[in-house]
Parts: sequence; C-alpha cells; structure tokens
Amino acid sequence: MGSEQDCIFCQIASGELDTEFVLETDTVVAFNDIAPAAPTHVLVVPKRHLGSVAELGPGEQELLAELIDAANAVASERGLDASGYRVLTNHGADAGQTVQHVHFHVLGGNALGPLG
Ligand code: 5GP
Ligand code: ZN
Repeated sequence: MGSEQDCIFCQIASGELDTEFVLETDTVVAFNDIAPAAPTHVLVVPKRHLGSVAELGPGEQELLAELIDAANAVASERGLDASGYRVLTNHGADAGQTVQHVHFHVLGGNALGPLG
C-alpha cells in the first residue's frame, strides 16, 4: 500500500491505531479530526502515502476523484448538502501543513467564516 514509517496518517489508514473510520473504500479512509475546527471536521486521506496535493498530479487523477467523492459522501452523510461545507487541503509551510500525508479537510455544521 506504500506506507511511510513514522507517518501518523499511514498508521491510521492501515488500521494500526484502531481509529474509527467515518468512511472506508479500497483506496481512501475518512476519520474525525483530533482537534475539530467545526461541528463536522473529517479528514479524508488516501491509504497510499502521498506527501501533499502537489503529488496528486498526472497519473493520480483517479485517486484525486476518489478523494473528492469521499469528501462529498462524508458531507452528505453528515447532512451538509443544503447548509454547505468546505473542502480544503494544505501544502507546505505557508499553508500550515502539519501532517505530511495528503488529506482533505471536510468542514461544516456552522458558518465557517472567510478564509485567511
Ligand atoms: P494540516 O494542518 O496538515 O492541514 O492538518 C492536519 C490535521 O490533522 C489537523 O487538523 C490536526 O488536528 C489533525 N491531526 C493531527 N494528528 C492527528 C491524529 O493523530 N489523529 C487525528 N484524528 N487527527 C490528527
Ligand atoms: Zn503517510
């Protein structure tokens, strides 16, 4: 599956840490953020290790679509279709990326306010 030693999201995605999954497919898992910034704050990550969205380039379009499908499915399952939700991902220091395994945040459940 391509896991990196000492990568917390590889450990979570492999089931090593017994994390409860909100959603799981062959390629993707979703789980609650440990420090939620909104009533719904779910992280959608590929099971295979990729460092950030910058690695979801040519050759990874199928996985990218699976990640977005999963993010939308999580939002729907949480009843956020009508009220709205935000899907975002950070790459690098200026964006504040703290976990170097690509993940999409799915946020919703109240007014999220502007970015920045
Ligand atoms: P980033 O800042 O890299 O975009 O987002 C990393 C996110 O991962 C943060 O929102 C942080 O709260 C979350 N996070 C970090 N470590 C863990 C963990 O061990 N478990 C879970 N569920 N979330 C984590
Ligand atoms: Zn990883």
